[in-house]
Amino acid sequence: MAIVSSNAGSSAPRREPVLDAQPSPEEATGRPDDGLRPKRLDDYIGQDELKQVLGIAVQAAIGRGEALDHVLLYGPPGLGKTTMALVLAEELGVTCRITSAPALERPRDIVGLLVNVQPRDLLFIDEIHRLNRVAEELLYPAMEDRRLDLTVGKGSTARTRSLDLPPFTLVGATTKAGSLSSPLRDRFGLIQRLEFYGLEDLEAIVSRTADLLGVSLSAGACRRIAGCCRGTPRIANRLLRRVRDVACVQGRQNQIDEGLVSQALSLHRVDHRGLDAGDRRLLAQLDQHHDGGPVGLETLAAALGEDPTTLESVVEPFLLQQGLLVRTPRGRMLTEAARAHLREQEAA
Ligand code: ADP
Repeated sequence: MAIVSSNAGSSAPRREPVLDAQPSPEEATGRPDDGLRPKRLDDYIGQDELKQVLGIAVQAAIGRGEALDHVLLYGPPGLGKTTMALVLAEELGVTCRITSAPALERPRDIVGLLVNVQPRDLLFIDEIHRLNRVAEELLYPAMEDRRLDLTVGKGSTARTRSLDLPPFTLVGATTKAGSLSSPLRDRFGLIQRLEFYGLEDLEAIVSRTADLLGVSLSAGACRRIAGCCRGTPRIANRLLRRVRDVACVQGRQNQIDEGLVSQALSLHRVDHRGLDAGDRRLLAQLDQHHDGGPVGLETLAAALGEDPTTLESVVEPFLLQQGLLVRTPRGRMLTEAARAHLREQEAA
């Protein structure tokens, strides 16, 4: 499978919480392979329902000699959406062209992408909820009728020319499915949500990454990392690299035990639930300054000096899933479990 990346645009710099599941600047440069990504469906750990649904769709598409239907993958960052797009291309034996919505700002960006598409190619558009209107409108006929409508000339001499496109698959990824316009969402034949991973799958991911990085972990060390990575493979891999740094400095790369993992986690201020300093700051803000809430997202973001979108799509999903935070029509509220956790951390 060939991989083609294009990242003409880039998003504004922003403050990163310690365990942010957003790609690192290195990961975001369009380098699609960090050396750790599973290549085939069989190597992709967890997300059983997703694998089953997509596995059947891939087999059927191959059997019919057709392009796979368009796929929308949504869920918090770091759960494996980009990885799945690459896996799908590998399974289909086609080229994967990778880009993201901010890189498709000008009409010519999306036109360039579409006119270069080869039969059955897979186009991956990350952050697809950020596509602008013009780009979206060019995509509609391309997705539905394999047609690119181009306006040639200006004013009264302007005419629309249509170009036929070969069959192709668009894989869109988003952390905010609700922000996608419904005409765009409706044009995806497969819409799949990625879930946070369970402990067993995370242990398997940590153990696989340890093998690939050439470090030796005790079973306890593996479990400890898996329990602190917020259900997210990207964070599991990142934590393991930080643990490896500590092990390397101490000359213990081949004997990483639970104690060494604890040292690395406390160095990075990650607590036993996997919450980092940024998460605890959010919970403490609600507790100490708003009596537990409810508080609107904008107010909370301003108080923390964070971007509301980052709070909503990166920080909050895990806190909500863990029952530490609730969203109500009047704003965010702290739960009793969060208060107990903060008290426990203060006492520690
Ligand atoms: P997303 O696109 O959802 O932000 P990525 O696909 O970039 O997430 O995944 C982040 C990292 O986590 C990848 O580098 C990959 O190594 C790892 N990863 C993700 N999903 C899995 C999985 N199911 N099994 C093993 N590793 C995974």
